[in-house]
Amino acid sequence: MPAANSYIAMIIDLYCVLSMILQERIIFKSVILTRDSCFRLGRVQPSWEVREEKMPTPSNNATPALATLPKLGARTLGDAQVLYEAPFNDLLFQAQTVHRANFDPNRIQLSKLLSIKTGGCPEDCAYCSQSAHHQTDLKASKLMEVERVVAEARKAQAGGATRYCMGAAWRGPKQRDMDMIIAMVRGVKALGLETCMTLGMLSLSQAKSLAEAGLDYYNHNIDTSERFYQEIVTTRSFADRLETLDHVRQAGIRVCSGGILGMGETVTDRIDMLVTLANLAPPPESVPINMLIPMPGTKLANATSVDPFEFIRIVALARILMPRAHVRLTAGRTAMSDEMQALCFFAGANSIFVGDTLLTAANPGDGRDSSLLRRLGMTAMLPEGTS
Ligand code: SF4
Repeated sequence: MPAANSYIAMIIDLYCVLSMILQERIIFKSVILTRDSCFRLGRVQPSWEVREEKMPTPSNNATPALATLPKLGARTLGDAQVLYEAPFNDLLFQAQTVHRANFDPNRIQLSKLLSIKTGGCPEDCAYCSQSAHHQTDLKASKLMEVERVVAEARKAQAGGATRYCMGAAWRGPKQRDMDMIIAMVRGVKALGLETCMTLGMLSLSQAKSLAEAGLDYYNHNIDTSERFYQEIVTTRSFADRLETLDHVRQAGIRVCSGGILGMGETVTDRIDMLVTLANLAPPPESVPINMLIPMPGTKLANATSVDPFEFIRIVALARILMPRAHVRLTAGRTAMSDEMQALCFFAGANSIFVGDTLLTAANPGDGRDSSLLRRLGMTAMLPEGTS
């Protein structure tokens, strides 16, 4: 009966309009009567079915949760904890805001890391397969020849790296090694690459020699909080670490220092580590954030993995506390999904190691990285001083 149906539909439409006009309260609350519910109403079913539409939240910076976050520049543990514990979206929004104010958010710094002297290290870092204190399959090697280091650096440069990092498994370099180390810095620098070294503890005079050779960065991670440090390393102290960082600074070399998540530390230890770094004067220019790769034979071989969101929160906090630093997503990327890495980049990470090895651990490799960066529309950052 088409004529009867259209008559009924017309009455229902009229009823809906009258309902909405008369019940101003309903319009005000954005409650919408659906035609279906009206139809049921018309069939004398006294059950009001309404679909409530939520008003969109204004997309500005002043959502209540964000407004209560500490202002940028917070450096106390308490303030950093408030930042860390903010709703995930608010924390990432703030981190991304800081990131955009200081960097091109779609550029990423690419470094390459080479082990120039592997294994046999006298230190007892609980996470490290290169420690002589652990029973690992790693074969110790001598310091690599300068020519080979420079040749490897040339290959890395051809692959897109702009910074070349050289690491030696030492407590600190011996004086007899310094000539070769200095020759490596000069040789790599001459290629037009930024140079970085990680050689363990440095005296002030060693740091000055490296500065004279043209070393751009020195890596020396504080690893974790001062409180937790002795659980991880017993052959040196947290204060020793800070002393080397001070020597590096005094020599005029830029500082690269960060830590590792997933060693059994608390969230507070992680935040405290970042607060320590942020309070260095000045803070590090480069902050590597590592996710532990449990290495067989080490004390942390069976460590529990870190919750990905906790990891991303620490990346975001590093970005907020150290706005000008390159925050590097370092070890552990092989265990991260592309989506997790993308969230880390959104949270402010803007540096990675390229290549398929990281000292003795696996790294995603150039194929996976270039594919990921292409999918994200990200490109390599040029070395500082170039345009
Ligand atoms: S992390 Fe460095 S200092 Fe510690 S055991 Fe490994 S190579 Fe040695």
